[in-house]
Amino acid sequence: MNWKNAAGLNKHLSGLSEKQKEKIRNGAKVEVCKEMREGWNGELPFYIFWCGECDNFSYDYPHGYIQNQRLNCHRCSARIDFRPWWSGWVELWELLKFRFSVRGK
Ligand SMILES: [Zn+2]
Repeated sequence: MNWKNAAGLNKHLSGLSEKQKEKIRNGAKVEVCKEMREGWNGELPFYIFWCGECDNFSYDYPHGYIQNQRLNCHRCSARIDFRPWWSGWVELWELLKFRFSVRGK
């Protein structure tokens, strides 16, 4: 159990409407705040999402590289795949940059 995340979940879950909670139960991941923790260079977005392993709401920030990000359940440490909506644009940009760098040589 990650107690910091458990506290964050309690704090932010109460601010969500029943409709939002229903969406999360159906697989939506809702960004509820940005936090900066000790040892970090900047703020990261925190999401509330549903963990199918322990059947409960969970709270975490995305881990890993943009193309294969995941959220970790703070209760049972299950990994939940997470790709933000803009990750496709990052891939496209990387592809374009690569093309131009090849062309320039
Ligand atoms: Zn879980």
